[in-house]
Parts: sequence; C-alpha cells; structure tokens
Amino acid sequence: MSGSREPIREGGFDDLREAVAPVSERFTAAGHRLYLVGGLVRDRLMGLVSTNDHDLTTDATPDLVREIVEDVADAVWLQGERFGTVGIRIGDLIMEITTHRAESYVGDSRKPVVRFSTDLHEDLGRRDFTVNAMAVDVVDGQLHDPFDGRADLAAGILRTPLSPEESFGDDPLRMLRAARFHARYDLVPVDGLVEAARSLADRIGIVSGERIRGELFRLLEVADPTPGFSFLEDVDLAWRVLPELARLDGDSRSTALARLATTAADPVLRLAVIAWSTAGLAESTVALRLSGADAVRITGLVDGADRIRMGGAAGGPWSDESVRRLVASSGPILDQVVDFAGSVGILVGDLPVALGRLRGAGELDDLGPALGGDEVMALLGLKAGPEVGEALAWLAELRLGEGRMESGDVAERLQGWWSTRASG
Ligand code: ATP
Ligand code: MG
Repeated sequence: MSGSREPIREGGFDDLREAVAPVSERFTAAGHRLYLVGGLVRDRLMGLVSTNDHDLTTDATPDLVREIVEDVADAVWLQGERFGTVGIRIGDLIMEITTHRAESYVGDSRKPVVRFSTDLHEDLGRRDFTVNAMAVDVVDGQLHDPFDGRADLAAGILRTPLSPEESFGDDPLRMLRAARFHARYDLVPVDGLVEAARSLADRIGIVSGERIRGELFRLLEVADPTPGFSFLEDVDLAWRVLPELARLDGDSRSTALARLATTAADPVLRLAVIAWSTAGLAESTVALRLSGADAVRITGLVDGADRIRMGGAAGGPWSDESVRRLVASSGPILDQVVDFAGSVGILVGDLPVALGRLRGAGELDDLGPALGGDEVMALLGLKAGPEVGEALAWLAELRLGEGRMESGDVAERLQGWWSTRASG
C-alpha cells in the first residue's frame, strides 16, 4: 500500500447512505442524527473497497437506539450495550450503532465507566487516529472531519486527535493500533508520537492479553506487517507483545520478519513462522491467551516442518517410506505443513510429487495396522491383553515401513514375527 496514494474522494458514500436509509429515516423521525464512522469512512476516502463493518455513531442513547431500530431490524444484539453499542442486522447488512462517547475506551478496567455524549466532535476526539476520526452524516452526506483526518490521509500521516500522551495514556492499546495503521496504510507517525509511545510503553501492562492478541492478529493480517514490528521495536513494545521474537538477534529477527511478508496473511500461520525462528512461543501462547486450537496448530506446523527437514535429505528424493511416515504423523494438516515448510525455507524436494503419486495409488489411505485386534487374537491364539497391543504396534510399523500388502501376506508376516518373538 506504499507509494502514491489513491485520490481522496468526495461523495463516495451514496450507496452506503442508501443501504442504511431504512434505519436513518427512523433516527431522523425521532429527532436524532446518525453517522457512518471509522474505518469504513477512511477506506472509502482512500478509494479502497472496504471489508469493514458498518460502524455508525449517534447522539441517541442506547435504549433509544434499541427502540428506534426494533421493528426494522431482523436481529438485534445487545452484548455491547454497556459500552453504548447496539448491533443490528437487516437482510445481509450488519450495523453497529454506538452512542457518542466522551470517555476513552475503557475495556480493561474492572468497572468500565462510559460517559455518553450528544456531541459528535467530542466522540471523534476520543477516537484513536485522525484518519479514523471522520464521520459522514447519513442524511445529507456531509463529511465531519474536525481533526483533518482527510488531509492526514492524503499526506500519509498518523496522528492522534488529542495529544499522543493523553491518547495512549487513556488506552495503551492504541500504541499497537498505531503499529497496524502504520504498516497497513504506510502512514508515518507525526513528530512526537513515537516519543509519547516510548514514554508510555509500560502502560501496556494494564491491557488484557485478549485485547493485545486481537490487535496483534490484525497486525499479522496486514500484507507486509514488517513496518509495524519496526514501530513496536522503536517504541520499546516489541518485547511485551512477542518477547520470543524480540529476543532474537537482529539478523534472525529480520529473517523471520521477511518470511512473514511472503506467507499468507493468516495470523496463526504467521505466528507459526515466528515460532519456527524462535524455537517455540511458549511464553506468548500464555500471555496472549491463544486458544488451544491455535496453539495446537502452531505446534503441529512447526513439528511437521521439522520432520520434513529431517526426512527429505536436504531437498533430495523422498522414499515412499519417509512419505508415509510424514503423512501418518501430520494427519489432517499435512498440506498446510508442506506449504509451511516451504515458507520457512526448508527444501521440500520432490515431496509434493511423491505425495501425489502415493496418494493416487491409494497408498496413503488407512495408514494404520492392516489387521484389527480380533483378527490378531484369532491368528496368534491370544486373549485380550498387552501382547495384542504389541502386535498391533508391530503391524502399524509394518504398514509404514513397507506399505500396503495383501492381507494373506500380512497374516504370514505377523505369524513369522510372533514366532521369532516367542522363541527369542
Ligand atoms: P479495520 O479496517 O481494521 O476494521 P477500523 O478503523 O475499522 O479498522 P476497528 O477496530 O474496527 O478499526 O474500530 C472502528 C473504529 O473505532 C476505529 O476506526 C476508531 O475510530 C474507533 N476505535 C476502535 N478502537 C479504538 C481504540 N482503542 N481507541 C480509540 N478509538 C478506537
Ligand atoms: Mg472496522
């Protein structure tokens, strides 16, 4: 997204205003105002096709909003009502309508205090950056931009509406958001912003792991997040967000970050790329409250890539046996593991070809033991017990080592093994 900027457009909001018209008419009838706000306005002004939610802000209090939308909405949700947000769906359109706020976002205190306001500019002044502090009146289409966000967008400047000290002090998570917007839109921090963040970096300690994870994931969704990570290093926040990455020496860190940009913009996949370089992310997994599923995926990718590294003779040919062993250990994430190994620079050699060949021959189906416990007991004259388990493990090994065989051959081999084992 760097380089020359898209023209800043006027009047590009008509379709959005039309889309929300059923709702906006009701606000007008009730004597209230409604504005499109935040990322959607920013992205439209940049000429980007926005995937943003429809965020709106109003002077009506949340209980009034609820009343106003009640009989036009197909669904209403009120989880955010405490913070002033009423969510609604009309057909395919999802809108989150938030009452103007006068306080900072206070998601981390035990008893968040939200003071509502009837003043749009007060609300915009409490937003994170000037480029996000613009609103479009859904009735007349007028752009409200009291902090010159449009000019900052055109000039490529990242600036807080109030002083950065006040803004970052109120909600330290904004320092992480700064990293994201810097990376995503190539916005350069205005003088004083970096210094303010550096002086307030410790305050990130009051922010919950969940919120930090949320922002980190959004940074990891940026096509090239590298400038965001450099920002975090500059302001001394990197070690608080991903300590394992921050502890790497400069070269290893650069290598890891360069790999991110060439890996699909999937946050968990990219965390696995970092985990590969840092020999794990145990500390961050806990601190960021990663879900069990995400942690398992990261470990699975890293371990699988490691097996490819060991199994492939440095890019040389893959034996059928080593392919079978890899498939058995990687399970359902095999294809992801192969892609991932490529992303972290492992030579996969002819693995994809070998995989295709064996898969086509049905060699990769049922990679477990060829016989069941009952068959083993009948063949060897055993009762249920540890010896049956031992025999099944031997069969599993046979399957991986030598591939698919006729069941008569399997039975013969099993009996052969059993007789040498019994006599030995
Ligand atoms: P994206 O395109 O990634 O969704 P966005 O700008 O829409 O970016 P959101 O997190 O969806 O960001 O938030 C919507 C709007 O709410 C922002 O544009 C900003 O005006 C405001 N906002 C969100 N989080 C904060 C915060 N922590 N402090 C201040 N304002 C915030
Ligand atoms: Mg958004």
